[in-house]
Amino acid sequence: PKATQAAQPEVEGLADVKHILAVSSCKGGVGKSTVATNLAFSISKLGKKVGIFDADVYGPSLPTLVNTQDYGLRADFDAPEKIIPHEYDGVKCMSYGFVSKGQRAIMRGPMVSGLVSQLIKNTNWGELDYLVLDMPPGTGDIAITLCQEISISAALIVTTPQKLAYVDVIKGLEMFDSLKVPTVGILENMSYFTCDGCSKKHRIFGSGYTDQIIQQFGIKNSFEIPILPELSRLSDDGAPAVLALPEGVELVRRYKHIAES
Ligand code: ADP
Repeated sequence: PKATQAAQPEVEGLADVKHILAVSSCKGGVGKSTVATNLAFSISKLGKKVGIFDADVYGPSLPTLVNTQDYGLRADFDAPEKIIPHEYDGVKCMSYGFVSKGQRAIMRGPMVSGLVSQLIKNTNWGELDYLVLDMPPGTGDIAITLCQEISISAALIVTTPQKLAYVDVIKGLEMFDSLKVPTVGILENMSYFTCDGCSKKHRIFGSGYTDQIIQQFGIKNSFEIPILPELSRLSDDGAPAVLALPEGVELVRRYKHIAES
């Protein structure tokens, strides 16, 4: 993102955060949280100070994807109203899942929106180059409140190649557009599979609609991530894949363009 201003000077916990990058998808299960988490760790590997905020109260993923030590949440001694985020491999992590400890959230939208915005603002992020926001899926209350209350520098939309996902991407693009958040890229996840026996890219779900979206909306960047069985296994084990996979280096290279765009 090109914005160089501090994210939201009047929001104390975010005062020293330079860029806030929202990773969004309009459907569940397309790999949004996997992408957001690995994006955060990739940018960190590039030498930047990074945090990740999991804004999905109904289905928090971060506690599963990143197995931070379970020491509970602590208040900051110097600023007792602020919470110290968990840290894993230098990346600051915060999720409602760290607070709820596996209890389900049964709350209405406006209550959740308030909770999410309080949690992000009351976390002591300190100085960060990038804060990656793993947005809740869809274009509902929580996503809209976050866009209105936090100064988001840019959005990345994650999708899969199917037509249904395409329809939802348009909804997401329109939401960000109407809230004046620039969409810097579309990432098509699970684009293809390369089997052991040949180097051919098998496009299991078809060839996708990303080109069409890019032309229609003038989005500058598009990315493809293949189906990587290891990615799924490592995520379930609580280790960000970019830190462990041989393809991790390649993922870092791809994500570098997102951070720089
Ligand atoms: P979302 O946040 O969109 O609901 P997740 O990030 O939770 O989706 O991913 C859904 C499932 O798909 C997880 O089990 C994850 O490990 C798996 N997954 C995501 N991306 C890939 C990929 N490129 N290759 C293989 N598995 C993937």
